[in-house]
Amino acid sequence: MSVVKSKHKCVVCGRVFPSGQGIIINIEDLTLEFHSNRCFSKFTRELLRRIPTHEIKGYAKRLLEEYSEILLQKAKLKSKKI
Ligand SMILES: [Zn+2]
Repeated sequence: MSVVKSKHKCVVCGRVFPSGQGIIINIEDLTLEFHSNRCFSKFTRELLRRIPTHEIKGYAKRLLEEYSEILLQKAKLKSKKI
């Protein structure tokens, strides 16, 4: 049974915020709570800086390819509409 918390605390600035707001990331038993995109990106940038580049490069490349594909599909749809 999981306990539903109604209040969250931002791990970056300590601000308390209600459920349905902010960004909650669950990594197995680790929960990361951010009250805003700004705190989330601050944490994520620092996290990315600490992960060895050779480990992260492959994932970044794949994600980049996925977004490129989405952009390509969007462009195709747009050209069809005209
Ligand atoms: Zn915050």
